[in-house]
Amino acid sequence: MARIRDLLAVQRTVSFEFFPPKTDQARAHLDEVMTELSVHHPDFVSVTYGAGGSDRQQTVETVTHLQAEHQVPTMPHLTCVGHRVSEIDALLDSYAAAGVESILALGGDVPLDATDVPTGDFRFAADLVAHLKADGRFSIGVAAHPEGHPRSPNSREDRQRLADKLNEADFAITQFFFNIDDYLSMMNDLADLGCDKPVIPGVIPLTNSNQVTRFADMAGATIPSELIERIAAAAIKGGSPTASEVLKLGIEVAVDLSQGLLDAGAPGLHFYTLNRAKATKAVLSSLAVPAE
Ligand code: FAD
Repeated sequence: MARIRDLLAVQRTVSFEFFPPKTDQARAHLDEVMTELSVHHPDFVSVTYGAGGSDRQQTVETVTHLQAEHQVPTMPHLTCVGHRVSEIDALLDSYAAAGVESILALGGDVPLDATDVPTGDFRFAADLVAHLKADGRFSIGVAAHPEGHPRSPNSREDRQRLADKLNEADFAITQFFFNIDDYLSMMNDLADLGCDKPVIPGVIPLTNSNQVTRFADMAGATIPSELIERIAAAAIKGGSPTASEVLKLGIEVAVDLSQGLLDAGAPGLHFYTLNRAKATKAVLSSLAVPAE
C-alpha cells in the first residue's frame, strides 16, 4: 500500500489510532467507526499493542483485518516488553505477509499488576529500531513525549535519547498533549540536536470528564487549567456537566490545538480515537485547510 515514510515525504497525513477490540460486538463497532472516519480519507491507521497475553494476538488480527477489509495502510504498535528476538521475527513475518509496511517501535510499560512478564531481549525502543532497521522490510516510527517521558531523569537527557532514537527511525508520533508550546519546544530542541525527522503530533479529543484526570495520570500529560476550569464552570451552572457539554468542550480544545499545529507546519495529525468516531470527525470537519 504505502510506507508512512514515503507518505510523509510528499504530504501532510491524517491518521487514527485504535485499540484491538476483544469481542465480536466490539469488532463490528470498530468496522462502523472505520467506515464513518473514512470520509476523512486517513493516510494510515495504527493499532496498539498490549503488554502481554492474548491482547497481543488481537493486535495482529485487527491489523490484518483493517488493512484487508478497509484498504487502509495499517501500522501495528510493537513493544519490547517480554519479547525474545524469535518472537519479534515471527510477528514481523506475519505482518509482512499481511502487506504491512510500517511499524511503530516502542519501549512499552510493564503493567503495575503484572507478575509473570518474561525477560525480553530488547530493553529500549532504540533496540527494537535497530532490529527493524537490520530487517529492512518496514518504515519505522517511534514515540515522542513533548512534555518529556515520565521516567526520564531530566529533559536534556530525554531529548537527547529521543533525537538518537529518531535519527535511526523515519518518523515519530507524539503522546497526546494540550499545550502547543510543548510540541514546538520539543521540535526546536530536536533541531538543535541535529534531528529533522517528521514528528506527527498526537491529538486526543477528551470526551468525558473522568478521562480528564485518568489520562493525564497515565500519560504524564498536563491537562490545561483552562479546560479543567471550563468543565468545573459547566458543573457549577447545572450540577454535573452533561456528557454533551464535556464533548463540546473537548472538541473545541482539540480543534484549537489541531489548527494551531497545522498552522505551525506540523507534518500531520494523529488522532487517539478510543475506537469512537464522533469527536474525531467533529474536529476534522472544523479544521480549515492550512496553507502548505
Ligand atoms: P523508550 O524510547 O525506550 O524510552 C523509555 C525511557 O527510557 C525514556 O525515559 C528514555 O529517555 C529512556 N531511555 C531510552 N534509551 C535509554 C538508554 N539507552 N539508557 C537509559 N535510558 C534510556 N505502550 C504500549 O504498551 N502499547 C502501545 O501500543 C503503545 N502505543 C504508544 C503510542 C504512542 C504514539 C506513544 C507516544 C506511546 C505509546 N505507548 C504504548 C506507551 C509507551 O510504550 C510508553 O510511553 C513507554 O514508557 C515508553 O515508550 P518509548 O517507546 O518512548 O520508550
